[in-house]
Amino acid sequence: MNHLGFEMERVKIGSFDFTCCEGCQLQLANKESTLPDFLALLDIRNFREISSERHDDYDIAFVEGSITRRDEIERLKAIRAQAKILVAFGTCACFGGVNSLKNRIPQAEAIMEVYKGKAVETMPSLKISDIVQVDLSIPGCPVSKDEVERILVGIVTRSQVSLPTYPVCVDCKQRLNTCLFDLGEICLGPISRAGCDAVCPTGKTPCLGCRGPAEELNMPAFLDLVKERGLSLEHLTEKLSFYNAFEPLATDET
Ligand code: SF4
Ligand code: SF4
Ligand code: SF4
Repeated sequence: MNHLGFEMERVKIGSFDFTCCEGCQLQLANKESTLPDFLALLDIRNFREISSERHDDYDIAFVEGSITRRDEIERLKAIRAQAKILVAFGTCACFGGVNSLKNRIPQAEAIMEVYKGKAVETMPSLKISDIVQVDLSIPGCPVSKDEVERILVGIVTRSQVSLPTYPVCVDCKQRLNTCLFDLGEICLGPISRAGCDAVCPTGKTPCLGCRGPAEELNMPAFLDLVKERGLSLEHLTEKLSFYNAFEPLATDET
């Protein structure tokens, strides 16, 4: 029974992590102020951070992390086969995320560097949509709790769910922040999808585009801005590739 006093069928969800820090799942589990209301909407069938129960009859699967081992591919395909809706949850799942930094160097070299030559099973980092069909992507490193709750309520009530299409700059300017370009920094706010309340530039840290490209972006104007300010294109390329979220733009335009 919810607080309005009527029974509502709860949505069966499963949440699964692959190669990642699990920070996106923890965002949900840690939000104590809204967790009881949130859980009242859901029938948790499989979610390691929240419950010790394990069931395979979920309808919505949240998939966190990127794919960096062959055994993860089979596990992901089995989740896809069960789920009616599969959500790529967080930047690692949506774009490959920070794990994709390992793709910049040959894998044998990466293993030698990190594991000092110890035998480990690994492969270049892939985003979830490289392997299976994704029905919905919720980006963010980590995801925004408010956004996830809003989207889940939308799914439960069968309303339309959407992400902001405009760039981070819109929210940043509303907060009356000093633009970091004026302080000589490259900030990806003009080309990155809003929805995080411009948390990084508000904290005086340039946006690295963890939420991926905004739909309403003007890449030529952004490149002109970087050049006009005499900032390094090499530095820009490095920022664009950090989360692997701007891959086509980075290759075509910088
Ligand atoms: S997107 Fe960021 S917070 Fe989420 S799992 Fe990946 S590294 Fe962690
Ligand atoms: S600091 Fe970044 S996000 Fe804020 S207005 Fe400047 S470019 Fe846009
Ligand atoms: S400001 Fe940029 S890097 Fe920071 S959370 Fe928002 S989109 Fe991600």
